Amino acid sequence: MLLNRIDLRDSNLTPRELAAALPRADQDVAAALEAVSGTIADVRERGAAALRDAAERFDHVRPTHLRVPAAALQEALEGLDPAVREALELSIAHNRAGHAAQLPTERDTEIIPGGHVLQRWIPVRRVGLYAPGGLAVYPSSVVMNAVAAQVAGVEQIALASPPQPDFDGLPHPTVLAACALLGITEVYAAGGAQAIALFAYGADAADDVDRADSLAAGGDGRTLCEPVDVVAGPGNVYVAAAKRAVRGTVGIDAEAGPTEIAVVADSGADPEYVAADLLSQAEHDPNAGSVLITDSPRLADAVDAALARRLDATRHRERARTALTGAQSAIVLVRDLDQAVEVADAYAAEHLEIQTSDAAAVARRIHNAGAIFVGPYSPVPLGDYLAGSNHVLPTGGTARFAAGLNVMAYLKPVQVIDYDAGALGAMTAPLTALAESENLPAHGEAARARRC
Ligand code: NAD
Repeated sequence: MLLNRIDLRDSNLTPRELAAALPRADQDVAAALEAVSGTIADVRERGAAALRDAAERFDHVRPTHLRVPAAALQEALEGLDPAVREALELSIAHNRAGHAAQLPTERDTEIIPGGHVLQRWIPVRRVGLYAPGGLAVYPSSVVMNAVAAQVAGVEQIALASPPQPDFDGLPHPTVLAACALLGITEVYAAGGAQAIALFAYGADAADDVDRADSLAAGGDGRTLCEPVDVVAGPGNVYVAAAKRAVRGTVGIDAEAGPTEIAVVADSGADPEYVAADLLSQAEHDPNAGSVLITDSPRLADAVDAALARRLDATRHRERARTALTGAQSAIVLVRDLDQAVEVADAYAAEHLEIQTSDAAAVARRIHNAGAIFVGPYSPVPLGDYLAGSNHVLPTGGTARFAAGLNVMAYLKPVQVIDYDAGALGAMTAPLTALAESENLPAHGEAARARRC
């Protein structure tokens, strides 16, 4: 057997026991926080010079250009495989449609005659997006991060992705091409914690190249990057730790951990589909988690066999094998569909597939998941690229309280209070009573001073 088995058919666990029994990747953000605190402080102090040192140490290349020149973005777009370009354009279009549906509407409520509260949604002015680029490159993450920000109405979008030794210390050309397609012109060759620190604190130019790049981009020739208001995007544990460290100085979307998939499947599911989907997420990362929840021991055996076969043939078999055989992956055997739903809710998967009869009805019963994929023809990789949903999703069980990246990550609800004299007059007595009850008489004075 490839995957661990957890048999819950005869168990009667409390919610706490159930959570402890389920597999989970062990991501120690606190330890990574210690590892990255020096880098963050260094970027804060020495700006661009620290970014180059960190790149040399962690990315094994010393970037000449930290700010990607416009010509490099254009060149990457021109060199992009036409099929990939078409697919990225489709992904952008689908995501624009999917995210437009999330936009909240402004609403004016007349609380009393002449007294209004308007609910506005104001986009943050400037965001820093992270597109990972360590084990794999993620132009799709560029699309997911940026489309949500663009639909939200963010004015300034900057993006960072690790410098690549094979591409002269610039981010991967496909990432650059995706930026060009989206109209993002402010792009940095920076990875990991140093990129997050760059966004949180900004950085000064360190050498003549930085100064020239700043001027060429319409900057002041002294600043490499201005600080942002919100940092968003997925990444490894160092990225997650850095986001935790700068939270408060800037807003962050969420701390994304290693990717996860859970599949709830019954005896009617196709084991090949289930195995293919479990493998699709295992190839992300040796820490990725793949979990099958089923009431059918026969399906469990068939999926395990199909996985073993597919694993031998897949390109990233080493890291996928580590992921599938690790403690974070398992087949969980349950009594029935009710228990399957209970287990899925306790696991709170980043990606949850439902491959059962009447999958839509089962999906409706789910409370906790980053995104839910219904039926045999909605595999997770569709959501990774083209479904029109966002693929930056809460991991590690945080789907109990957190949502995937969406326009709200970039919008602030602001209430606008607009009362006329009559409406304030009607409120002066109760306002004074409450102010006196809190021993704050000047509050009442502010209302009475208007004599209305
Ligand atoms: P990454 O870009 O997140 O990390 C690479 C950076 O990590 C490097 O630039 C380097 O600066 C830093 N780093 C590497 N080793 C370090 C060390 N020892 N100390 C300090 N910093 C170090 O790319 P990655 O590593 O491939 O990770 C990407 C992760 O993002 C994967 O886990 C993947 O599953 C996840 N992901 C998630 C989503 C999502 O939507 N949730 C989407 C895409 C990717």
